[in-house]
Amino acid sequence: MQNEANSFQLPAKSQILEWLQAVKDPEIPTISLVDLGVIRAVELDEATGKVYVQLTPTFAGCPAMDYMKRDVERTLLSHGVPAVEVEISLREAWSSDMLTDAGREALRQHKLSPPPVLGNQVLDLDFLEYAECPNCQGHNTELRTPFGATLCRAVHYCHDCRQLFEQFKPI
Ligand SMILES: [Zn+2]
Repeated sequence: MQNEANSFQLPAKSQILEWLQAVKDPEIPTISLVDLGVIRAVELDEATGKVYVQLTPTFAGCPAMDYMKRDVERTLLSHGVPAVEVEISLREAWSSDMLTDAGREALRQHKLSPPPVLGNQVLDLDFLEYAECPNCQGHNTELRTPFGATLCRAVHYCHDCRQLFEQFKPI
């Protein structure tokens, strides 16, 4: 991929977001950082062509953050963007409501139950207990433990298919 810096055409923000669809969550390879809601802002410097990307981790202290940062840089540079700056922002906490519909579908493909949409409701026990089975889409489920294999997962049991499954927790 060769690009002369002086012939570089400034891409539209929508184009940059499309390129960033290629950057997947290292733990859930079916979902992109865009659909996860981790990419919070994309800004373009018209004068230099430099692209600023702001990331917010799903859980503070997420060990994959540095990896994601480098992957964003690598992806944009490979499309000829002359310079990329990725900032990790903790100003506004990530919420599972930032998952896009495509993101929820991507979780299902990975056999992970998507979190329920919180909206303006309080995150209480009912929400933590609610889950959609990724195998049969049923709701006859029971929370087994709020702590799964990683911080962001809970383990539920489906009474219909009699299987344990993991849910991407609502936060
Ligand atoms: Zn089921």
